[in-house]
Amino acid sequence: MQATNWLGEPFASKNSKIFLDRKVAKRLLYAAQEAFPYEYSALLIGKGATITDFLSMPISADKHAFSWDGPAFFKAIGDIRKRHLQWLGVLHTHPHTAPIPSARDVAGWHYPSLSYWIVSLALDVPDWRVYQWQDGGFVGRDYTLTDATEVADTSSADSASSPKNS
Ligand SMILES: [Zn+2]
Repeated sequence: MQATNWLGEPFASKNSKIFLDRKVAKRLLYAAQEAFPYEYSALLIGKGATITDFLSMPISADKHAFSWDGPAFFKAIGDIRKRHLQWLGVLHTHPHTAPIPSARDVAGWHYPSLSYWIVSLALDVPDWRVYQWQDGGFVGRDYTLTDATEVADTSSADSASSPKNS
């Protein structure tokens, strides 16, 4: 249990919402737009059901997606563990298409407990979607933007010493 503490379960309780820090969302969007017209992807990290930071992942031009077994991925996991945070999801962009998981997205997803975010940059207004893996497919979920101050308050109240979802 302790060994996999870094692997989060943001949808652990039924009908629970997932939270995304507003500033993190802004920074993600900026990074995503910088990468345009190429695909951008990141690991989303935080605690419980609240995403408070992210780690950008390198994308190779020929592969379209980052590799799950690459050195950048393992370095990111090491970073998450060192900071006593949890890996809560991944985000990638669809620069030219709708924010619907592709066949390749479905085939390549190996972490069903995590949240799966797609941001479409195909239209003028970026379209954010978050999915949960359920019964062999992606199901759309709601998310709530939150402010860093709230996040800091709640996380200091029940710090790392009291494990959640146990
Ligand atoms: Zn995709």
